[in-house]
Amino acid sequence: MKNDEVMERLKKSLEFYQELGFKYMPVQLALKSKSAEEQGRGGEELIETKNDSISAPKPSTFPTVTTSELQSFRTSALKALRDEIGDCRRCKLCNARKNIVFGEGLPNAELMFIGEGPGRDEDIQARPFVGEAGQLLTKLIEKLGFKRDEVYIANIVKCRPPGNREPEAEEVAICKPFLEKQIEIIRPKVIVSLGKISAHSLLGVKTQISRLRGNFLKYDDIPLMPTFHPAYLLRNPKDKWLVWNDMQKVIEKLKN
Ligand code: SF4
Repeated sequence: MKNDEVMERLKKSLEFYQELGFKYMPVQLALKSKSAEEQGRGGEELIETKNDSISAPKPSTFPTVTTSELQSFRTSALKALRDEIGDCRRCKLCNARKNIVFGEGLPNAELMFIGEGPGRDEDIQARPFVGEAGQLLTKLIEKLGFKRDEVYIANIVKCRPPGNREPEAEEVAICKPFLEKQIEIIRPKVIVSLGKISAHSLLGVKTQISRLRGNFLKYDDIPLMPTFHPAYLLRNPKDKWLVWNDMQKVIEKLKN
């Protein structure tokens, strides 16, 4: 990526965290200078956001923060985002929902699963993927060697579409900025999109999920693996092995 593109993305990130009320933001190791590495610096680092004009930082001067400080920062940023959503009535999905399903998991998660939208059980419990399809996803997560609370799980839209219909394009367009902010805060190493709507919304393509799945693509420079939705697997258990193959690639990517 060119320097001016890097600076533009950094500027947007700083503005985003300023909007949330933060004076400082963590940046990933990608910004760490070689000299900082040579000095044995590790972990994540901070950039002051309270500048009227944002100039190129000197990486070797960044103070280091610990993983727990970063987790605390991300927890606060997610809470600020949830407060911003409030009792959202920005799209018509608010009319029939019981609860907003914000998402849950580890704020420092390396792996993030993104589905389509809450179903009946999720709407009642205000938690993502807790119905039958969710139980299958939880089993898959555990087979990969994670506990459910070691990953982060969210959806494209945060309110249940009536009758479990697909969310409409307008509903996705209105709600998706909240998810984009969640991804910006968590900054996982790998995203797994579950099902057609999730892949299409995140990637901006219309390719059939059966053709998309199994190959890494990118969402904002984060590797994204599209795969089938667990609800599809409940109807088509013979395709579970395809998802398992996709997840092996995810594990390899995380190791790298
Ligand atoms: S789906 Fe999203 S935008 Fe629509 S009401 Fe719910 S939280 Fe708001």
